[in-house]
Amino acid sequence: MPRLLMVDNLAHTYPDGTRALRGVSLALNRGEILSIIGLSGAGKSTLLRCINGLVRPTEGSVEFDGRTVDWDAGSLRHLRRMIAMIFQHFNLIGNLSVLSNVLMGRLSYQSCLMQPFYSFSKRDREIAAAALDKIGLLNEWDKRASELSGGQQQRVGVARALAQEPRLLLADEPVSSLDPLTADTVLGHFVKIVRKEKLATLMNLHAVELARKYSDRILGVREGQCVWQGLPDELTTAVLKSIYGEEYDG
Ligand code: ADP
Ligand code: MG
Repeated sequence: MPRLLMVDNLAHTYPDGTRALRGVSLALNRGEILSIIGLSGAGKSTLLRCINGLVRPTEGSVEFDGRTVDWDAGSLRHLRRMIAMIFQHFNLIGNLSVLSNVLMGRLSYQSCLMQPFYSFSKRDREIAAAALDKIGLLNEWDKRASELSGGQQQRVGVARALAQEPRLLLADEPVSSLDPLTADTVLGHFVKIVRKEKLATLMNLHAVELARKYSDRILGVREGQCVWQGLPDELTTAVLKSIYGEEYDG
């Protein structure tokens, strides 16, 4: 499988001196689903932010799509277009329609960001509608986003990410705001689409059982370091203790 993302020896220290990452390396192939697990504060979000160009690593390198990210405007634009994000709190615009929210995924393709909203092309609208169809919300296209349930809102978040036609999906705790049953349903649906479309996905997951169920590979982060990598079946209690600490009793 061709390699899509290569993160080498990444370190990040925030301006206040917090060493959030200390030498993390990982590789992701096209079509692969990799989950990152670890305690709150372990550095999972910082790692995703370094990959999508939001945070500049203090050390180490990121290679995406055969290109070393050199943090100039051109390479950041490339990252923003090719990497789509799914957020814990959905980040929808509540008073806009479901379709308008999904069209936001097409923004990075606009030649001018100041263009008015109604200037999305027919093709943009078709892509957005197709994304809504995939996630099973086409019938709700004209509802206000705020009228939807939490699970439906995150499905809109997924549709927006798909409409971007990204090469890589990054999801930071995509289902932590949902109740366990809805979380499983939404993540299951998401993973099904991702597998069908052979999209590479990197996600931070809070719930170990979801990581086990829906990943090809899992990476354990502790205090800014990658302490374990392996297959879902290899995630034993001993491994979980090495990631979460001896107190772990899940
Ligand atoms: P996780 O996503 O695993 O909970 P984070 O990447 O958010 O971990 O945080 C890693 C560490 O960096 C934590 O100690 C956190 O408090 C710290 N941190 C996160 N964001 C900032 C920031 N903007 N400024 C300073 N410290 C931060
Ligand atoms: Mg986080």
